[in-house]
Amino acid sequence: MRAFAILTMALLVTPTNRGGAQPPPAAGISTALAEERAARLSDLRYDLSFRLPGDRRERVTGRVTITFRLQNPSMPLALDFAPGRPDAIRSVTAGDVPIEARVADGHVVLPSSALRAGLNTIAIDFDAGDPPLNRSEDFLYTIFVPARAHEAFPCFDQPDLKARWTLALDAPGDWVTVANGAEVTRETRREAEGERVKVGFAPTEPIPTYLFAFAAGRFSVEEAERNGRRFRMLHRETDVAKVRRNRDAIFDLHATALEWLERYTGIPYPFGKFDFVLVPAFQFGGMEHPGAVFYNASGLMLEESATQNQELERASTISHETAHMWFGDLVTMRWFTDVWMKEVFANFMAARIVNPSFPGINHDLRFLHAYYPAAYDVDRTAGTNAIRQPLDNLNQAGTLYGAIIYQKAPIVMRQLEMLTGADRFRSGVRDYLRRYRFGNASWPDLIALLDAHTPEDLAAWSRAWVEEAGRPIVTTELEVQDGRIVSLGFGVSDPDRRRGLTWTEELHVALGYADRVQTLPVRLAGTRVEVIAARGLSAPLFVLPNGAGLGYGEFHLDPASLAWLGDRLPDVDGRDGALTRGSAWVTLWDAMLNGQLAPERVVDLALRALPREGDELNVQRILSYLEQAYWRFTPEAERSAKVAEIERVLRQGLADASSRSLKGAYFASLRNVAQTASTLEWLARVWRRDETVPGLTLAETDDIALAQALAVREVEGWEAMLRQQVERTLNPDRKARLQFVLPALSADPTERDRFFASLANGANRRREAWVLDGLRSLHHPLRAAESARFVTPSLALLEEIQRTGDIFFPKRWIDSTLSGHRSESAAGMVRSFLADVPATYPDRLRRIILSSADDLFRASRVR
Ligand SMILES: [Zn+2]
Repeated sequence: MRAFAILTMALLVTPTNRGGAQPPPAAGISTALAEERAARLSDLRYDLSFRLPGDRRERVTGRVTITFRLQNPSMPLALDFAPGRPDAIRSVTAGDVPIEARVADGHVVLPSSALRAGLNTIAIDFDAGDPPLNRSEDFLYTIFVPARAHEAFPCFDQPDLKARWTLALDAPGDWVTVANGAEVTRETRREAEGERVKVGFAPTEPIPTYLFAFAAGRFSVEEAERNGRRFRMLHRETDVAKVRRNRDAIFDLHATALEWLERYTGIPYPFGKFDFVLVPAFQFGGMEHPGAVFYNASGLMLEESATQNQELERASTISHETAHMWFGDLVTMRWFTDVWMKEVFANFMAARIVNPSFPGINHDLRFLHAYYPAAYDVDRTAGTNAIRQPLDNLNQAGTLYGAIIYQKAPIVMRQLEMLTGADRFRSGVRDYLRRYRFGNASWPDLIALLDAHTPEDLAAWSRAWVEEAGRPIVTTELEVQDGRIVSLGFGVSDPDRRRGLTWTEELHVALGYADRVQTLPVRLAGTRVEVIAARGLSAPLFVLPNGAGLGYGEFHLDPASLAWLGDRLPDVDGRDGALTRGSAWVTLWDAMLNGQLAPERVVDLALRALPREGDELNVQRILSYLEQAYWRFTPEAERSAKVAEIERVLRQGLADASSRSLKGAYFASLRNVAQTASTLEWLARVWRRDETVPGLTLAETDDIALAQALAVREVEGWEAMLRQQVERTLNPDRKARLQFVLPALSADPTERDRFFASLANGANRRREAWVLDGLRSLHHPLRAAESARFVTPSLALLEEIQRTGDIFFPKRWIDSTLSGHRSESAAGMVRSFLADVPATYPDRLRRIILSSADDLFRASRVR
């Protein structure tokens, strides 16, 4: 592993000019620039202050004093600063001496005459760049991941230059402020426009730029104590009952996660205080700033109708961000090529932490549903990528994020733990955290540590599962004679044989009988494996290679098993019946996408399965497959013949559902699918409150979603409904979001054109969640024919979106754009776009498009 790592680094480094006449660095942070600075700088400190105006149109101004030890002062030194506006630098001093410096290509180059060996102090007065400050009318919050701090202020924006940060925020007097460090000073004063407050925060432990954070604005604050630690929650929720309903659970989940992690790692929480901020329409589920975690408010403040899945999601998100305090924050990747490592550790730990909080849940099944479908959705496509991806400039770091990091990597990590053994794995992880605490490490550093704990060849394993993309193809070979198994084997192959990979993994194959499911452990290695223990067993009704959902691959059923499960999957019962059914659904979905099972058979199977499925997680999965099979894979002409039956099953499910969350899930599906006049009328009555669904409470977000669904179907009076919904919406953030989306719902095509055209302006894409909401309405399947004209222009905008947006935005932008389409012409537009882009088109964007368009390509081939 180590040799391979050194080779990788050597390839990434472009030669630097070590002579005197060094060219200024190009835009972004290249590996060359980062390595040069990491070698020269140490003992880095930032002392930052910002003045935050109450009026969003005024500039945020700031001053930063950077101190560091420097080697080799004979070369100039580049700071990063790309505020997106001219003349943002007001003054620069080195020591006490003013120096001439200007911003070029996102850098402020300090001349060698201003530098000296040893300790240096650089002070800069500047106007902050707005984009990563996420400014709203009366609040703002920073997102500096992956390398966006330098869009706001001058710094060395790379993960392996950790620093201690001291911050002061000067804000309107009624604003609440929060940062990584604890508040230590506070002064209020009166100015012409009103009271102002200046808050000073304690210096942080060493953290990188992407973890430095603050938020300020009109927030409500909840406080609680758990296990002797004080927690603070900032939020903007206006529904008092909702806050009351959620607050204790949110604090408890944090406390449980912290306690668990301290025990597992053997290291106490390293960052002092623990605050978190619930941000409306936050770009991610959460962001792990030490001492100041930011969350998407809707993920934590659940509605009364929250599904079990949403509750699990909430617990997982909280545990995920908390796990980052050790994995990512205490030990940080050296370079963003290993960003997946912190994500996989966080997800892996989150799964462990969440389990005890939900004793009634089938956790293996939850793992299956949380990770496999999303990982396969990317890994089966031509646009997939390896878990570990090369990255030669941080301005491309955002494109590394996605399902392969968040969903495939946890599956792979679980395999690594199985391969290593849980105890040895934990010892290796503890060694790793202790050795690199408050520093940086790479994946090869961890593999080397773990390799010392096990006889396995982890380097070869890592090459297939981590350094390369895709899934092994596993085919089932079953031979039966006289009612007994003669042989059961699996063929293992790589989609690209030239790579010469060895796919090693552990499986539990399930053999289904009328009265039971029997599982047998199998270790896949090489090109064919026979399950010796299966010889002589009575012939099963079906064989499901990944029965217990441990393995990972494109699993092909033998023809008899495919036929049996395609008809009788709901009959599968027994001790692990729910897990077997869940895994069978995931396998059958692959079979459908591979053309081995017709979409209408999947729809019919779902309709038969729903009334009988006893597990809520499986119900959620089946509902989601049903919706996709219906909208995406059923030709328009055949939908109307099917929709009445689907609605009937969903309404029955809604009536019969035993829990509030299950009712919520059925209701959401019904809302998404509904098309018959009688169901639409009924939904409209529900929206008007002329009708109630026993056991179902509709929150403001549900009302909004319902109004939007009815609008896109143009039910009678829909325009008035939308206007009424705007008036009815009390929460100002949700009201503004709905108003933003309205033009995308308009019956007037020119209005929809205007909405789409407005998105070409970056300022109108600032609220990414709003934009995606609008795009999904614009491209609703019922409007696919009219919205096809936006497909190519959307693709054309992707490069700019990647440059200006947050990390998940490019993929989501294309996902939302293509979500409603299934036509050959839409597929053709994507293909010709890709054929026409120049050879220099970024490979990662090409991959994003290919993976987003995969379902469209497959659906367009269905009749
Ligand atoms: Zn994370």
